[in-house]
Amino acid sequence: MTIKKESYNNVNFCLKCGNKMELRVDKEGKIRPKCTKCNWTYYKNPIPASACVILNDQNKVVIIKRKFEPNAGDWALPSGYVEIDQTPAECAVDEMKEETSLDGEVIVQLGYDTEFSPIYEKVISFGFLMKITGGKLQAGDDAVDARYVSFDELPDIAFPSHVKFIEIAKALYSKE
Ligand SMILES: [Zn+2]
Repeated sequence: MTIKKESYNNVNFCLKCGNKMELRVDKEGKIRPKCTKCNWTYYKNPIPASACVILNDQNKVVIIKRKFEPNAGDWALPSGYVEIDQTPAECAVDEMKEETSLDGEVIVQLGYDTEFSPIYEKVISFGFLMKITGGKLQAGDDAVDARYVSFDELPDIAFPSHVKFIEIAKALYSKE
């Protein structure tokens, strides 16, 4: 595969020593920025995120109105970026709590998808079907609104990956 120079447009200074970075071609023929002083290499990778499909007993799915960019103000699944000390599944449980005030656990993984991100260039998103184990639905700190909707009532959803996870959950795990 080839790596676009443009992916590294804003990589100017070394994160380890602060000196100037320079684009070099590595032994596999891939373009990588390298520090001109300490040789540290910067690799650009997709940023991992987790998204939650939360189905209740009435076969309704939880959606939240996003508070933060990207797509602030749009409806989406509860979701967030995986922290360095989390697994994607742990991230899903935490995001569910933070955005919906619901306690939950993972039932099954719903696959993954990659998509463009205006912030990180590319995100790799993991979908999880979640079980509600406690709490009452209300928008948490990271959401403006949170509600249960039937599959028929779904508004436009901000991210294609979330649409895909909802469709997988509907096809395989809904009670319709
Ligand atoms: Zn350096």
